[in-house]
Amino acid sequence: MEHSRTRRGTTRGNGRAGSHPFLGKRIVVFTAHPDDEGIAAGTMYENHRAGGETFLICATYGEKGKSHLAKPVSDAALKRIRKAELLAAAKVLKVDEVRFLGLPDAGVKAHSAALFEKAMRAVMRIGPEYILSFGPDGMSGHLDHITVGKAARRIAKRLRIPLAAFTRADAGALSDERRKFFLARRKFGKYARTMPEYRKGDIKVHIDPAVKRRALRRHVSQFGPGDPFARLPKKVAAQFMGSEHFIRENI
Ligand SMILES: [Zn+2]
Repeated sequence: MEHSRTRRGTTRGNGRAGSHPFLGKRIVVFTAHPDDEGIAAGTMYENHRAGGETFLICATYGEKGKSHLAKPVSDAALKRIRKAELLAAAKVLKVDEVRFLGLPDAGVKAHSAALFEKAMRAVMRIGPEYILSFGPDGMSGHLDHITVGKAARRIAKRLRIPLAAFTRADAGALSDERRKFFLARRKFGKYARTMPEYRKGDIKVHIDPAVKRRALRRHVSQFGPGDPFARLPKKVAAQFMGSEHFIRENI
């Protein structure tokens, strides 16, 4: 999908675009599911504002996620719905192109060879200057996330492209509440058995919370209608809305 590419030159609150490791560049954001892009949503928009180009690669259509739609829908229908929702969110974030790899949701690990091949082809075609993706924690410990992060690392290494991993604003100080939240999700069997160990980021991007909120509201089938952050504790919501954090990876 193509969007107009306005060059605005400067970034607000992120220093000069030239001094930032990836803002203002041609970047790939590599995720597993529609809505994962929320982790770097504000960053993608800031990249556009800094004159960069963003290519979002999403491994699955997210058809196995719980639906918040009023009526139950088939996996096939949910695929179409989530694809459209991600494209709508990407439009808000001024993403230049979205590429779906079409792997099975919650089954990426079993298809890691196909994931690597498809993603490698996509990245080679795009020719990015930087890749952003999951680190070993997979943010939530989701196995699809961890598998995507491993593929991103292999590709970055092979093509010698700098890589940064997503991390959390509160890395190193995860509350008991958040730990319980993560552990409660383990019962679905899609998550790593150990608690994710979050590393502290060394790249911070100040973001526009209004744009991020507007983009994430496009994922109605995942969050239901209304503000997706309204259900989160205020402190947690604030962490997602003010800035996004990344770790420069040595590859
Ligand atoms: Zn996900």
